[in-house]
Amino acid sequence: MERVLEGRTALVTGSTSGIGLGIAMFYAQAGAKVMLNGFGKPEEIARARAEVGAAMGGGEAPYSAADLSKPEQVRQMVQQAEAELGKVDILVNNAGIQFVAPIDEFPEDRFDAIIAINFTSNYHAIKAALPGMKARGWGRIINIASAHGLIASPYKSAYVAAKHAVVGLSKTVALEIAQTNITCNAICPGFVRTPLAEAQIPPLAAKFGVSEEVALKDHLLEHQPSKKWVEVADVAQMALWLCGPNSGAMNGSAFSVDGGWTAA
Ligand code: NAD
Repeated sequence: MERVLEGRTALVTGSTSGIGLGIAMFYAQAGAKVMLNGFGKPEEIARARAEVGAAMGGGEAPYSAADLSKPEQVRQMVQQAEAELGKVDILVNNAGIQFVAPIDEFPEDRFDAIIAINFTSNYHAIKAALPGMKARGWGRIINIASAHGLIASPYKSAYVAAKHAVVGLSKTVALEIAQTNITCNAICPGFVRTPLAEAQIPPLAAKFGVSEEVALKDHLLEHQPSKKWVEVADVAQMALWLCGPNSGAMNGSAFSVDGGWTAA
């Protein structure tokens, strides 16, 4: 991979698995120093740190165990990244959770947790990282929203509300920093192939009495016109592009990576 991020540093939240880990790997392979964050079994976290560390040229990638539902821990994570990486040039707000239920049955604690982790943590992290970016005169803020940041689906009230809020926050921050060399954008993936998402196929196949191929195309990817997964690398490529050469004019946009979902 071309080392377009040589000399840059990045903090990627929720990067112990899935999309966040994919973005961290792309950034490391492109020459950036990357700090990881997220939960997981100790061996999974160690593997992620070793993989990203190897892509950075050896050793373990720095890591923060911050729980992003806690504002104080979000602030501490940014401080730790500034201390261990020397600076935070690129902030990727990626950590997220999901819960599905009708609004009148939606548990309050799940609703509050989704808003806190998927949305409010973005505000706290941006607020903490932006002064350093302004002082150095360069920065990239990338918020991983979702197709559900642009359109809704039933039973996902908290997630859809949080992801719409992420898109709105991204636009507002973009306007506030429009005359600096800092940009703020959202990425809106459709259904991405991750272990958690793939695990939904066998139960769906059993529920509808169909093959796993039919369960994927007709049920899980019902709204994704491509009828194919978005790959983690597709999202990571977009996240890299937003930090690379000639990316300074892309500001305040919500970039769909969704196999055509939101075009329909
Ligand atoms: P994932 O479950 O594989 O990864 C989520 C990451 O967030 C993990 O590292 C997890 O440990 C971390 N996390 C969860 N709660 C946390 C907390 N309180 N504090 C710190 N870290 C926490 O999921 P993913 O599919 O890779 O999703 C990543 C992002 O992409 C999420 O914001 C998700 O909403 C979004 N997204 C995913 C898809 C998809 O199809 N997979 C589609 C659109 C958007």
